[in-house]
Amino acid sequence: MTNFAPRATGTRRGARLFDRLGTVMNEPPRTPADPAPAGASVPPPGGRAAGLILRGAESLAAAIRAAAREPRATALFCDIDGTISPIVADPFAAVVPPAFRAILAALAPRLGLLAFVTGRDAHRAAAMVGIGDALYVGLHGFDVLAPGGAVRRDPAAGPYVARVRTMARRAAALDADRLGLVIEDKGPVVALHYRRALDPAATLAVLEREILQPARRLGLAIASGHFLVELRPPVAVSKGTAVLRLLSPSGRGGMAMRTAFFLGDDLTDRTGFTAVHAWAAEAGGGGRLALAVAALTDETPPEVRDEADVVVAATPGVFEVLAGLLEALSA
Ligand SMILES: [Mg+2]
Repeated sequence: MTNFAPRATGTRRGARLFDRLGTVMNEPPRTPADPAPAGASVPPPGGRAAGLILRGAESLAAAIRAAAREPRATALFCDIDGTISPIVADPFAAVVPPAFRAILAALAPRLGLLAFVTGRDAHRAAAMVGIGDALYVGLHGFDVLAPGGAVRRDPAAGPYVARVRTMARRAAALDADRLGLVIEDKGPVVALHYRRALDPAATLAVLEREILQPARRLGLAIASGHFLVELRPPVAVSKGTAVLRLLSPSGRGGMAMRTAFFLGDDLTDRTGFTAVHAWAAEAGGGGRLALAVAALTDETPPEVRDEADVVVAATPGVFEVLAGLLEALSA
């Protein structure tokens, strides 16, 4: 299945944007030097594609104005799957459409910080998105891949890696074809995807008995998402902790950010939403602005929607947010 088609919109404006997205999807990715990719020349949110912004258009416009005033003091944190990459049955087949890559490449040199924050392995994330001058936070905050650098892994994962490996071997011994299971082994984190299962509840029951209960007995943490469970070290590392570290004065060479966006679609992104909100609140109304943007599908958990300032139709609504931001930064 895909969530690329605009849902809950049905407007002619949304349809026109979708047509345009289709047009640019086959274009090759552009370099950061290209000032205005074809998919970028659209009016700000609330304009032509208003149907894709489901809630919070005024908050979005205010944050975009703040970013345009100080682009180098603006941080953009962005989830990948379900946010800029349509959800597909096989997580290894997911791609970031060229239209998204083009607009993100144009944003990268203009912003103070562009970071992709994902549950994927950081190198795999970098290969998917393909933007060199961005940061890639992988494994829900355990790994950070800086431009041109090596992956820095949070040392807190170390004591638990052997236990995760034990459970990874146990998962690999399951009948993946029969269960509709795709195993994504990321080292200190193992993701078990069951979107392909004919009976997802039955597969989840098998996973609960064979993997999750033993993993809990080993002291590992379990995280869940869209047709996905993950085994991970039971430490307080999340997308949110990674975001707060990057926004701290020591996080990016002391560069002070004043506006932060976090775009995401799933429970793990909620930690990013709360992180940017906490970061803004920490300033006590002293000039920091945070905007949490939920990319909505019919799978988005309500608590993700509730924590967000802006709700958009995934994934074309995310494109619209990025297009509005780029247009304001290019003016
Ligand atoms: Mg996601």
